[in-house]
Amino acid sequence: MINNLLEEIGNPKTIGITGHVRPDGDCVGAVLGTYAYLSNVYKDADIRVFLEMPAKHFSFLKGYDKIDESFAYPGQFDVFFSLDSGDLGRIEKSEKLFLGAKKSICIDHHVSNMGFGDVSHVEPDASSTCEILTRLFDDRYMDVEVAKALYTGIAHDTGVFRYSCTGPETFIALSKLVKYDFDGSRITDETFYQKTYVQNQILGRTLLESILFMDGKCIAGSIDRKAIEFYGVNSKDFEGIVNQLQVTRGVEVAIFMSETGTLEHKVSLRSNGNVDVAEIASYFGGGGHVRAAGCTMNGTFHDVLNNLSLHIEKQLKDKQIL
Ligand code: 5GP
Ligand code: MN
Repeated sequence: MINNLLEEIGNPKTIGITGHVRPDGDCVGAVLGTYAYLSNVYKDADIRVFLEMPAKHFSFLKGYDKIDESFAYPGQFDVFFSLDSGDLGRIEKSEKLFLGAKKSICIDHHVSNMGFGDVSHVEPDASSTCEILTRLFDDRYMDVEVAKALYTGIAHDTGVFRYSCTGPETFIALSKLVKYDFDGSRITDETFYQKTYVQNQILGRTLLESILFMDGKCIAGSIDRKAIEFYGVNSKDFEGIVNQLQVTRGVEVAIFMSETGTLEHKVSLRSNGNVDVAEIASYFGGGGHVRAAGCTMNGTFHDVLNNLSLHIEKQLKDKQIL
């Protein structure tokens, strides 16, 4: 664990920062918040940001235009950060830069994270990586740009301060951020709630075609390659669909699948607390949190559903909910 982040970092000349594949709001906020913060601390350092390009609605964050999707760097970094990634495999194209750095630092909040940096700081009870960073960052170098990024990340991973991961510590962290002059509700409106027309269309379609089973305790929705191509959408457009499935009354577990290749699906799982979906996702090679996890699975939609159902059913039966 890290007590004093700046002491841990030392006095580097080059710093790299990355996050996980298909970055979500917490990942984007953590990476760009760290970029903004370290830019304030190390004014002369060369600081690079390696990430898959996040959605356009994050472009108001400082450093968005610095995001390097090439993942190419000729030298060795003095310090390299992995943020919000539960395991080394999830930083994918940054893996070599991370492992090759003089010092690698991993900061994250996934229960499944075993700590894969020279220095690792994992707080599974934290709502978000951005909440952890808010605690680790020194007030002296905070500014409105850092605050906006961290606020964005906390808002996203807590479903706008709503999910059960939102605890007293989350609000203490937020109190450190909201004293800066920015419009928090505009951030949540524009990055979390607003959907494009086509996003609403696929949301509607997925809900319409969803299936409710296991005595109403499980709901599943999916989008196949044909629909993905027809609507011209990608994984960024699917955010929020699984959460809408999840708020179906009576449901314990919501499943959303998108077809990523021939007989291959990206699976998102959400639980209302009685089923540990991190355990199920880990079993299938993925990971995440007790109430929100994901993995990639092979087979037809029904194969995947059957495989997941066995695990969900077992947990529900063990708890005598089914
Ligand atoms: P989502 O369903 O929103 O993609 O992800 C929910 C949570 O599970 C996130 O915290 C995410 O990091 C984690 N997660 C999603 N997919 C994977 C995966 O394939 N592997 C691992 N290790 N974690 C995942
Ligand atoms: Mn996160």
